[in-house]
Amino acid sequence: MEKKNIDWANLGFGYIQTDYRFVSNYKNGAWDDGILTEDANVVINECAGVLQYAQTVFEGMKAYTTVDGRIVTFRPDLNGERLEQSAARLEMPIFPKDKFVEAVVKTIKANEAYVPPYGSGATLYVRPYMFGSNPVIGVKPADEYQFRILTTPVGPYFKGGVKPLTIRVSDFDRAAPNGTGHIKAGLNYAMSLHAIVDAHKQGYDENMYLDAKTRTKVEETGGANFLFVTKDGKVVTPKSDSILPSITRRSLVQVAREYLGLEAEEREVYLDELKDFAECGLCGTAAVISPVGKVVDHGKEICFPSGMTEMGPVTRKLYETLTGIQMGTIKAPEGWIVEIK
Ligand SMILES: *Cc1c(COP(=O)(O)O)cnc(C)c1O
Repeated sequence: MEKKNIDWANLGFGYIQTDYRFVSNYKNGAWDDGILTEDANVVINECAGVLQYAQTVFEGMKAYTTVDGRIVTFRPDLNGERLEQSAARLEMPIFPKDKFVEAVVKTIKANEAYVPPYGSGATLYVRPYMFGSNPVIGVKPADEYQFRILTTPVGPYFKGGVKPLTIRVSDFDRAAPNGTGHIKAGLNYAMSLHAIVDAHKQGYDENMYLDAKTRTKVEETGGANFLFVTKDGKVVTPKSDSILPSITRRSLVQVAREYLGLEAEEREVYLDELKDFAECGLCGTAAVISPVGKVVDHGKEICFPSGMTEMGPVTRKLYETLTGIQMGTIKAPEGWIVEIK
């Protein structure tokens, strides 16, 4: 198979149309078998449930080439499981996780020519998503749905080196208690756009959202979970029902315990205790971990000892171990790496 002629190392994070996408339709209470198609356009009625009442959920994952030249993806079963949970919360039909993994593998395989080579730092981003497709005007769930998987090659996250982020404590809330913060739905992103555009205008990279009820506890950013390291080397991640359960964060906690012999704890984290941490990072599929150098709380700066020029030592070890597992230079736990054959 011949790779596409793409300057992998200089790709950004944008949409580039690839050859194939997976499409399956849900009608009369059942999913069809699904097909791969070359048609990148979606045609739906003007009154489709997704357009009127935002009935849509999604996933985000990556395919990449390992050191020994295999194309793989990382823990797709967990993405499938999470999509099931997201769909259930929005009264959408379940696309079964086994069929999900099968469809993801098939879609990556069909777009093999777009999977960047090992060492380029680039990856093939995979975006499964589902939406209500039939006309809905009275407020209720749609009866028909479409599940699709698109892929797009994306560039290295740390192009030009690692730069620790500066984050502000946001006055906006991301998720209500008992709301939808724990599911991966477009609605959680639509309402975050104003906050992120404003944060960028003010010179910040991201927003730190607090719990909406007490505004004393750390939740997450718009699209990544927090991970902290204490001064005595313990990994701490915030616990809350309104945080999206990041697969990267859950994997890093396991890596901390089983590969690095570190203690790791998921617990409530108060804004007041940020000053006591040695390191801070953001976890998600895109970057694995991006280091945070500074959090600004209404003019008050909380600077982590790891500084503004590099990753902290524990963050770096976590990053190197998990990316080593993904790239095949470190032995992976059973079931983490799924080969595209
Ligand atoms: C997708 C997402 C994450 C990261 O999850 P991963 O599974 O690690 O990619 C974190 N927070 C939010 C709000 C997200 O949508």
